[in-house]
Amino acid sequence: MDTLLNEAPCGYFSITDKGLIQSVNQTLLTMLGYDREELLERHIESTMSVANKMFFHTYFYPYIQLYGQVNEMYFSFRSKDGKDLPVLLNGIRRNRDGKAVIDCVALEMRKRIEHEKDIMKTKRQLEILYQETNEANHRLELLHAQYEKKQRELMELNERLETLASTDPLTGLKNRRFFQEQLLSHTELSKGAGNVLSLCIIDIDRFKSINDTYGHPVGDLVLTRLAQLLQEQSPEEAVVARFGGEEFVILLPGLDRDRALAAAERYRAATETTPLGDLRITISIGAATFAAEEESELSLLQQADQALYLSKNNGRNRVTHYRS
Ligand code: GH3
Ligand code: MG
Ligand code: MG
Repeated sequence: MDTLLNEAPCGYFSITDKGLIQSVNQTLLTMLGYDREELLERHIESTMSVANKMFFHTYFYPYIQLYGQVNEMYFSFRSKDGKDLPVLLNGIRRNRDGKAVIDCVALEMRKRIEHEKDIMKTKRQLEILYQETNEANHRLELLHAQYEKKQRELMELNERLETLASTDPLTGLKNRRFFQEQLLSHTELSKGAGNVLSLCIIDIDRFKSINDTYGHPVGDLVLTRLAQLLQEQSPEEAVVARFGGEEFVILLPGLDRDRALAAAERYRAATETTPLGDLRITISIGAATFAAEEESELSLLQQADQALYLSKNNGRNRVTHYRS
């Protein structure tokens, strides 16, 4: 064998159709750890593990017989000291000196296979990471949905609490606390914008005698029906509230003295003519109107209360405006 082939940077061997080694270069001998005499005329399969022998039988011989050559076949030799030696094998069948021989070159593939293993490992790790990221995202979405649901529930609860805190339980009207907040903010608004604002205080006449005659539950029913009536008779923007006991207050934004008096008269007349739970009652009303230019020592509420006192003193079932 010439020196160039003997020392070529790849393994070379040639075998007969039966697989007997006819020549082998030094590079392959060094790769496998054999002396030349140990391999010549030996079967090529003596340098392979059982699994690789099977593989060789299944692919190498049929291909060579069918196509006359084999290109880029991966498999492993077994070195003399029992180690696997992965190689890339090319073989070609020729006639030389009247005999068929198969010439083969084998390139060691250890590094490439390790690289491939690395790539596979990295790919698998990426897949796991991707899956974990997906799962984490999914959990995050679930948590977010739960959070939004809880937030909605909390808002609904807050709304219910707010309604509860501002509602009179017997009549369903706004309560005194809510009314006083509204009175304050409407007064501020009127001062700022110069709008008029009127207020009515309504007190049932001789209500004690209804309780005394028909009982407290009937008294409650009358209060509830009157609350309904007052609400029905009020404009959209009015704040109708139960001030306490048998007293009601109605805030009338935008109504001047005359219109407030007319509204109060409507409440009085409607109450007088509408039976409430089979009973007829009357109410007395005190009205007051806030106008920015008309300064007064008394608050709107005190003014209305004084007017109510006059309605009571002047015989009940009547309306009095503070500025009359
Ligand atoms: P006046 O015409 O002077 O206002 O006479 P009045 O009887 O209406 O006034 P008074 O203040 O003497 O009595 C008010 C009554 O209202 C006394 C109380 O028992 C009754 N009352 C207060 N709150 C309620 C309630 O929630 N339900 C019932 N049924 N009665 C109530
Ligand atoms: Mg009263
Ligand atoms: Mg009363």
